[in-house]
Amino acid sequence: MTAEDLVQVAVDSERCIGGGQCEMLEPEAFLLDDEEVVSAVIGTGTLPRRRAEAVAHRCPGAAISIIEPEIPSDTDG
Ligand code: SF4
Repeated sequence: MTAEDLVQVAVDSERCIGGGQCEMLEPEAFLLDDEEVVSAVIGTGTLPRRRAEAVAHRCPGAAISIIEPEIPSDTDG
């Protein structure tokens, strides 16, 4: 796993305090609603891990989380 691996991001709308830091940093992955109070994930919602961690770190509401990809089990076959 590298810093460039794509990971899925998610916004906890209960924690989001608006402001749009995420949308400013990653406009392809986040969008504030019309009242600019809650952000949501848009598009594929994926970012390279390094950028996902950076935007999560800068979210003032600690509302952004990274959904770790499932590690494929090698027990099949
Ligand atoms: S940076 Fe965090 S608190 Fe601000 S709008 Fe985005 S998810 Fe909400």
